[in-house]
Amino acid sequence: MARNSEPTTAPLLHTPAAATTTKLNKFVALLAFLSLASAVVFAVLYFSNLGSASKANDDKAARPLSTLRRPAVVLISSDGFRFGYEHKTDLPNIRRLISNGTSADAGLISSFPTLTFPNHYSIATGLYPSHHGIVNHKFVDPATGDRFNMSSHDPRWWLGEPLWETVARHNLTAAVYSWPGSEVKKGAWDCPPKYCPPYNLSVPFEERVDAALAYFDTDGDEEVPSLVTLYFDQPDHLGHQFGPDDEVITESVARIDDMIGRLIAGLEERRLFEDVNIVLLGDHGMVGTCESKLVFLEDLSPWVDVPRDWVEYYSTLLSVRPPPGVSPAEVVEKMRRGLGSGRVENGAKLRVYLKEELPGRLHYSDSERIPPIIGMPDEGYLVLLKRSNRSQCGGAHGYDNAYFSMRSIFVGHGPRFRKGWQVPSFENVEVYNVVNAILGIDGAPNDGSPSFPQSILLPTK
Ligand SMILES: [Zn+2]
Repeated sequence: MARNSEPTTAPLLHTPAAATTTKLNKFVALLAFLSLASAVVFAVLYFSNLGSASKANDDKAARPLSTLRRPAVVLISSDGFRFGYEHKTDLPNIRRLISNGTSADAGLISSFPTLTFPNHYSIATGLYPSHHGIVNHKFVDPATGDRFNMSSHDPRWWLGEPLWETVARHNLTAAVYSWPGSEVKKGAWDCPPKYCPPYNLSVPFEERVDAALAYFDTDGDEEVPSLVTLYFDQPDHLGHQFGPDDEVITESVARIDDMIGRLIAGLEERRLFEDVNIVLLGDHGMVGTCESKLVFLEDLSPWVDVPRDWVEYYSTLLSVRPPPGVSPAEVVEKMRRGLGSGRVENGAKLRVYLKEELPGRLHYSDSERIPPIIGMPDEGYLVLLKRSNRSQCGGAHGYDNAYFSMRSIFVGHGPRFRKGWQVPSFENVEVYNVVNAILGIDGAPNDGSPSFPQSILLPTK
C-alpha cells in the first residue's frame, strides 16, 4: 500500500557552540550558523508546506490542471468516522491529505438527526433533513400513510437536487459509487448502470476504490467524470458493535487509511493526484452506550401510555405520532411530568418536545414527515420501549448535533484547496455549494451559504 514518504517530523535544531576569538573557531561558528540557518529555512518551508514540489502561489489562487481538461471532485464518505478518529493511530495517507490540504479544525458538523441517510443526503443536496425529506431512517408520510425505509428508491421521498443530478443537469458526468439516494431516478439523473451500481455491502473496499479509479480510465471521446463518489460503511458498523474506544475501531480507521492510500496511488499512476479535488468526510460521529444509560417508555405508564404503534423511531432519538384525536401537547405534558417526577430511571436524561418547540438550530420542524413529538436523550443515553435482556453496550449516533461526539471530519485536497490550512468547523449542508463551486456549476437553491465556498476554496484566476 502506498505510504507517504514525506518527512513527518521537523529536523531537530541544534544550537551552535559559542564562537571563540580564534579564526578557526570563527569558521566553525560560521559553518554552524549556516547549517542552523538552512535548517531553519527547511523547517519554515516544511511547516508552510511550500516544498520544492509546490508552487509559490499555492495560497493565492487555484493551481492549474496538468492532465485533466476540467475540474473533478472525488467525494469520499467513511461512515461514522467520528471527529478525532484521525488521531487514534498513525494514518499516513489521511495525514498527507490534511497536511497538504484544508481541513475543518474541530470537525464537520452533522445535521440533526445525526443519522446516516439524513446526513448523506444533506451532504449531497445542501439541505437540512426537514427540507430534503429524508427526516429519519424510518418514517411515515402522513398524507398517504406510506412508510419510508432505507431501500425506498421512489423519487417522491427524495426531495431537493443531489450533486449527481446537478452535475447531470449541466451535461457533465457523475459516477456515484454508492451513496444514499444515488439509485433514485429524478430530473436529469437516470442512474446509468455504468455510473450508478446498486449498493452492495459485500463488495470489498479495495474493489470500490478500484472501481472509482477506473472511472478515470476513459477511452476516446468519453468524458472523464466531474464527480466520483466513494462510500465505506466503516468504521460505523464496528462502532455500533464495540463502541468508539475499542481497538477494532483503531484497526478499522487504519484500514480506511489504507484505502485512501490505494486511491492516492491509483491517481498518482494516472498523473491525476494533483488535478483531482479529493473531499474526505463522514456523515456523523459515534458515542459509547451501555446498560446504565437507558430510559424506558414503559416507565411512563403511570402518567401516559405511549403504545408501540405511536412510536416511529426510538433509541438515540424518539419520534412519536399519536393518532388523530389525541393531543400531542397533552401527551408531551404528561411525558414531561413523568420524566421530571424523579421516579423514572434516568428520566432527567430525556427531553421531550413538540417539534415546533425544538431549538431552531436543529432545523427539525419544517416537514409533515417529522412526527409531532420528538424526544432527545442526552449524549450516550438510549430510549427504549421496555426492558429486555439484550445488551445495549456498544456505540450509537443520532443525538443532538451540538455534541462534539456527533461530529465527523472534513478534509479537502487538490488544486482548489490551500495546503496545510485549517478552517473553523462548519455544517455539512455547506458541502454541496463547495463541490459545485469547484466544478464551476450552479447548484439548486439550498440551506448552505452562497458565500461559503469563497471562504474555503482558492479562487480561480
Ligand atoms: Zn452513518
